[in-house]
Amino acid sequence: MKRDSQDIRPVRPRDDFLVFGAPAIEDDEIQEVVATMKSGWLGTGPKAAQFERDFASYKGVQHAVAGNSCTAALHLSMIAADLESGDEVITTPLTFCSTINAIVHAGAKPVLADIDPLTMNIDPKQVEKHITPKTRAILPVHFAGRPCHMGALCSIAKSHSLKIIEDCAHAIETEYKGRGAGTFGDFGCFSFYVTKKVVTGEGGLATAKNEEDATRIKMLALHGMSKDAWKRFKDQGYKHYYVVQCGFKYNMMDLQAAIGIHQLKRVETNWQRRREIWQLYNNAFSDLPVGLPAPVEPDTRHAYHLYTILIDEEKTGICRDEFLNAMTAHNIGVGVHYLSIPEHTYYKETFGWKPEDYPHAMRIGRLTVSLPLSPKLTDGDVWDVVKAVKEILK
Ligand SMILES: *Cc1c(COP(=O)(O)O)cnc(C)c1O
Repeated sequence: MKRDSQDIRPVRPRDDFLVFGAPAIEDDEIQEVVATMKSGWLGTGPKAAQFERDFASYKGVQHAVAGNSCTAALHLSMIAADLESGDEVITTPLTFCSTINAIVHAGAKPVLADIDPLTMNIDPKQVEKHITPKTRAILPVHFAGRPCHMGALCSIAKSHSLKIIEDCAHAIETEYKGRGAGTFGDFGCFSFYVTKKVVTGEGGLATAKNEEDATRIKMLALHGMSKDAWKRFKDQGYKHYYVVQCGFKYNMMDLQAAIGIHQLKRVETNWQRRREIWQLYNNAFSDLPVGLPAPVEPDTRHAYHLYTILIDEEKTGICRDEFLNAMTAHNIGVGVHYLSIPEHTYYKETFGWKPEDYPHAMRIGRLTVSLPLSPKLTDGDVWDVVKAVKEILK
């Protein structure tokens, strides 16, 4: 930030609303989308295949299958993990609803294990407590881009013969002890939704350790049609396809991949910009009575997906929801990641979950606020966010 906090500016809301999580779209992907339109091949084809290769190479993995969302990737990973009705999958109560819904759609039963209040990631000790003879898998979410304690989780999985499916929706760039998020488990699931770090509009991808699993996911993502069914309209003559399983319509279009190919090329420079903004926020807020993100653990790489502060009314004199409204009144878009899963009506009614049974996730969910952290933010935008926060908490 060029200006410092001594700088005097009239305290009034910025003129335009700062959209939370606005994607940074550049000319390269716009041109690629236009070229794809002109090519006439909009659906799943060569661009989607290229995006899969590029992503696999970025993550250093063998098998990557692109689809239309991370939710779809989670769903298909659990089917490929051969989960059956009644099987239990242990996951975190501090996540997006789609993590839980995917478990339910795969026919399994979600079981929650509370988080570590500092890292906000699933606590391996809590995971162990919830293991039963029916547990088949652990589904860790690398919250905000901070890696889960994969050492402990992998050893629990090994000693109980459990699958690991990593929700890497926040964690494309995340590393734990030199290894990328998504490469520890049997499956890694990534999101390219508009607020994520690589954007395709809607989009997702599953990495799989085994080729067999990847092939199954690929097939299930396109109706369960036998391999390479998308080639059937090509010029080598008509090819019959056979439906070998009852699949889904989860494939990624070339139109989406055209965006992703260029977004992926900027993932590292965008990461650097978000780290810079993160440090600006850390410095600017160090003397405020709010909870700041815990320092990055040694030998890990944080993806800096969300910058979250905790607004505890006892310390700040303003409650979280009032703070959210005040930020909006300052023309700054904010987010909440997340109300804990047991706060939602459906899960309460279906599973009998109570927020108080997962006290750390409940507390974070009720106090947390996500501030804008897009690489698109100018220094002036960051300054506006800082001023608004300080003004509200003054
Ligand atoms: C965004 C998100 C998802 C879902 O991603 P989609 O691509 O929108 O399906 C799943 N889990 C977490 C933690 C997310 O943030």
